[in-house]
Formats: sequence, structure tokens, C-alpha cells
Amino acid sequence: MPVVKIPEIGNSYQEIVGHLKELKKKDLKWQEGKAFCLMYYPGDEKAAIIQHAYLEYFNENAFNPMAFPSLRKLESEVVSMVKNLLHGKNEVKGSMTSGGTESILMAVKTARDFSLKINPEIKPEIILPVSAHPAFQKACEYFSVKPLVVGLDAEFKADMEQVRSAITPNTIMLVGSAPAYPHGIIDPIEELSDLAIQKNLLLHVDACIGAFLLPFLEKNGHEVPHFDFRLEGVSSISADIHKYGYAAKGASVVLYRSNELRRSQFFIETNWPGGIYASSTITGSRPGGAISAAWAALSCIGIDGYCQFSKLTMEAFERIKMEIERIPELRILGNPQHGILSFTSSQIDIYQLADELQLKGWHFERLQFPAAIHLTVSQIHSTVAALFIQDLQRAILLVKKAKVRKLSSRVKINSLRKIMRVVPEGLIAKWQSKMPGKSPTNQKRTAPLYGMMGALKGTKDLERIVLNLMDKLNK
Ligand SMILES: *Cc1c(COP(=O)(O)O)cnc(C)c1O
Repeated sequence: MPVVKIPEIGNSYQEIVGHLKELKKKDLKWQEGKAFCLMYYPGDEKAAIIQHAYLEYFNENAFNPMAFPSLRKLESEVVSMVKNLLHGKNEVKGSMTSGGTESILMAVKTARDFSLKINPEIKPEIILPVSAHPAFQKACEYFSVKPLVVGLDAEFKADMEQVRSAITPNTIMLVGSAPAYPHGIIDPIEELSDLAIQKNLLLHVDACIGAFLLPFLEKNGHEVPHFDFRLEGVSSISADIHKYGYAAKGASVVLYRSNELRRSQFFIETNWPGGIYASSTITGSRPGGAISAAWAALSCIGIDGYCQFSKLTMEAFERIKMEIERIPELRILGNPQHGILSFTSSQIDIYQLADELQLKGWHFERLQFPAAIHLTVSQIHSTVAALFIQDLQRAILLVKKAKVRKLSSRVKINSLRKIMRVVPEGLIAKWQSKMPGKSPTNQKRTAPLYGMMGALKGTKDLERIVLNLMDKLNK
């Protein structure tokens, strides 16, 4: 990449906007509903209101709540609306954050400091189902908390036996997801809540993705297990407004059962020459727009709108799920009920199927252990579910025909080439030697990237490859 410098003379409006529009052409095309990840779109009408609300506070900094009482009011109203939705009583307190990751980082840090206040001797540990979001591992790494990872049961829920036996005198918190991202399955939150009460532990429920779907599904008459503050043992919840809440990115809420618990979240520095510095979450300066947009999303969509979106989501979800169940080559992981699902195959190469679907313009995540395709279904997909099913059926036929295999590797080869460029030379040879039965030269062209990743599972090599890739991407 050539060295990019700040232009000596600033570019014009036309140049800037033209350049951005050109650049965007290579990005994910989510507008037609072909992305089953990353994007949540409330339709043009609502989106226009939310965008307008963002621009209204485009310049304002939410760091100092004294300077912008209007933002403080909007933020406390957002927290209050989310708390109310999740059945938090008066004593429940919360904060807005920049996203699910920050909410989770805060919940872990708060649990650590709260527990250390009670017992300074402990070496804090939290118990994580393997399906819990990596933000928990990130939090553990950042804040020196030990993660104890437990497995899932046959239904892809946190295995309660393993959770129970992982508890030590150093355990401070249990974690459950409603639902967990990989398979869209809700952990046994009620059992976790009972266990937390019995063992006097904190329990964080990660409802980052479920908080703006499950309550409305419940209102629509679907069977939804309790996961929120109605369960006595739940001590904190993370809820993203920028997912099924359809707000602009940069909006999540972390809620705590008591103010005492939340106090462990705050940071205060009184000795700084710059004045007394107090900050409630990780960030310092914060975009006012993310707050006003979140407030606008909740206000303009309303309970009625969210119920309608949830209905459309479920129409698409149930249709896609039913069709996948009918396809003999495919198997859904567990029995997901609420908008998110993943499916695997023991008869065809699921990553090859993923490539075929991608060539037809669909986007989604690829899972591992087991290999699977992951779909986050939202309201926008109600218009494309039939098309997706059609393409899925065609893609399966294609994968079953050996002669198209070469073509279908195109996507893989491209990503493989990208990765190969950043992998240290010696490593490639080592990597290839793990893939039996193919000549090294041929290997470079056709070896399925994910297969190779699988062969490196759990090794330091894989971590190094990804680290190198991140260096490259963040250049
Ligand atoms: C998305 C997600 C997160 C992380 O949220 P970000 O907003 O991406 O930081 C955490 N947990 C679950 C279950 C999620 O789906």
C-alpha cells in the first residue's frame, strides 16, 4: 500500500462524497437483504428518523453530562426503557456503552471489583460456556480474571453439570447467553439463576443479541424462557440496541441489579492536574449521536413496531428452518427457536456450500467445531426467505456435482491467497505438511482454507497467522 498523507489542500465536497460512494461499491450489499450478519435494517422510513436524530447530535460530546443535560436525559431514558423492557425494578441501574463488547467488559470488571471489595484475597474466576461471546475472554485478558470454559450439552446449551463442577472458592460469576450467538440457543438461565443464588455468585446474562427480540416474541405469544431480572439470581444483563433494536452502531446498555454493584463500574481519578476525572464506562469522549439515535430508534419503532419486526423475523426464520429440516443433506445444530440458527452437514462439505451461496451473493458467518453456516435472521429477510431457500437448494446440487468443485473454490482460494501473503514462509511448508495426499504446489491453489485452519486448531501457529493478518488489515 502506498504511503497516504493528509492532503496539502483539503478536497471538495464532491470529491469526498464521490470517493466514498466509489469505495463502498466493494462492500457488503446488505440493502437487498442478502446479509445474514452484521446488519439490522428497520426500513427506509424508520432509518430516516434515526439518521436525523444522529445528525442532530453529530457534534456533541457525551463525555460530560453536565455540559449537555439533554444528552444526559436521553441516555437515562434509554437506560430506563431497556430496564423496563427487561423487568428491572427501581433498584436496577445501568449505563449506555458503545456496544456489546464494552457492556461485557464492564460487567466483568464490575464483578471483579465488587467481589474484591468483599474479599480482597480471592483470585477472581468466571465460568463461561464455550458458546459465550469472545468479549468475555477479552475482558478476562484485559482485567486479569481467570476464565473457566465449560462445554455444551447435546442441545448446545451450557452443560449445567460442568458449570457446577467448575465452581471453586475463587469463582465470582457465572455467565449465560440469551441466546448465544453461534447456535442461537438460550442457555438454561433459570438453572443458572438458582445455582447463583445457592452458591452466592453473580450471574451475568448476555442478552446482547436477544434483548430486542425475545421480549417481543414473548408478547407475540411465542414460548420464551425467562432470562431477565424476573429471575432473582440474575445480577447483570448486557443488551445491544444496535442489533435487533435497529439503532445506529455504538449503542448498548449494561444493567445491574443494584446501585451498589454498578458503583464498582465507575472510575474516578482525583489527583490529576486536569481536574477531578470521573468516567462511568471505558470510553472518555463519546458520540452524542449514538445516544440520540438509540433514543430515536426506541421511540419511533415502539413496542408495536418491535412486535411487528419480530413477527417478520420469525416468519422468515421459521420458513428457512423448516426448509433446511427438509433437506436430507443438512442438519440444524440444536433446536434454535428465536431468529438465529446454524446448520451443518455430514454428507457434503458445508464450507463448499457456503462458497456456492456466497457466489450467489449471500453473506453469513462460517462456524467451527462443528463446521456450519450461521444465519442471523431479521425483519429484512421476510422478503428474501424464498429466494434464499431456492439458492440453497441449487447450491446443494452444485456441491454434489464434483465438476464444479474447482469453480467453487474460487472464494476460498482468494481468501487463502490473502492469508498466505502474511504467513511467514516457513510456516506455510509446515502447514502444508499437515495436509496429506496433495503435492505442495497444488496445495497452494486448492486446499480449503477452513480445512487447513482446522488442522491447526488450538496451536500457536494459528494464533500467529491471525495476528499477522490483523497487522496487515490494520496497517
Ligand atoms: C454481538 C454480540 C456481542 C458483542 O457485541 P458487539 O456490539 O459486537 O461488541 C456479545 N454477545 C452476543 C451474544 C452478541 O451477539
